[in-house]
Amino acid sequence: MARIGFIGVGKMGGPMARNLMKAGHTVTAFDIAAPLLDAAIEAGAVRAASVRECVADAEIVITMLPAGHHVRDVYLADEGVLKSAGAGALLIDCSTIDVETARSVAAAASEAGLEMLDAPVSGGVGGAEAGTLTFMVGGAEGAFERARPLLEAMGRNIVHCGGAGNGQCAKMCNNMILAISMIGVGEAFVLAEKLGLDHQKLFDVSSTASGQCWALNSYCPVPGPVPSSPANRDYQAGFTADMMLKDLRLAQNAAQSFGASTPLGSVAQALYAMYVNGGEGSTDFSGIIRMIRGERS
Ligand code: NAD
Repeated sequence: MARIGFIGVGKMGGPMARNLMKAGHTVTAFDIAAPLLDAAIEAGAVRAASVRECVADAEIVITMLPAGHHVRDVYLADEGVLKSAGAGALLIDCSTIDVETARSVAAAASEAGLEMLDAPVSGGVGGAEAGTLTFMVGGAEGAFERARPLLEAMGRNIVHCGGAGNGQCAKMCNNMILAISMIGVGEAFVLAEKLGLDHQKLFDVSSTASGQCWALNSYCPVPGPVPSSPANRDYQAGFTADMMLKDLRLAQNAAQSFGASTPLGSVAQALYAMYVNGGEGSTDFSGIIRMIRGERS
């Protein structure tokens, strides 16, 4: 069983840390938000008062932070992970961040003699709680094999995507598919409404025909056909529109930097920006159907 330092016990990190403890690992936790840290301690973690204290004795360090600049701060600061972790510690960043930050922090870790993986996740808070996340992992093969048992305590589908940063590449490509398909599914339901075609009938046809996709089959954006989807609870997130917009921006920045043509990704980003600017950033991303329908600005 491993000694783990876990930094960032928010909506995702909290349940991920709990699953590691359930599997028998010892977790020392740190978060700048006191109530979230308190919740992790109540669930059995050891309290750390700083990043330094959190990682000093850890064999494995896991971070689950909001964005790239938080990851730079936590890893590269004077009292940050790279200066505070013991020799031989394996570093795993599960945050969704830009490829450039992921690769530069991994390079700095390597210069400090530490192995690092980027391992962003898909599956949302529900997946984090159930321990069924998908992990998309970038970094050296040996480090991946060392991390695998821990990732298996938090997830079900663990994929090694290649070298440093490639986990982030897979994550942004996946979420660009999801955003585009959610808008497409929303448009189809709105057209069906205008045509007088019942939601359930469209679902019964398309969920088994060539229109099927995760946005329709598992996360249907209208109430009824998929009882667990946020549409049935007034689009309470789930995966927020803010987060989706963040991921679409990462994808568009990468598309520009690396010269990829992604016209639908660009339109999806513009539509989600409108939706978020209309005050819906904290609601579920599937709620964009309401803007398509004309119910939101
Ligand atoms: P969150 O805001 O709930 O959690 C992030 C935590 O990091 C917060 O508790 C915050 O206080 C803490 N933090 C920030 N700066 C810190 C610092 N310097 N030191 C210590 N703690 C610090 O966010 P979340 O929903 O858990 O998402 C985390 C990451 O996972 C994001 O990159 C997000 O894009 C990704 N993600 C989220 C979901 C989802 O459904 N929520 C799904 C997949 C991926």
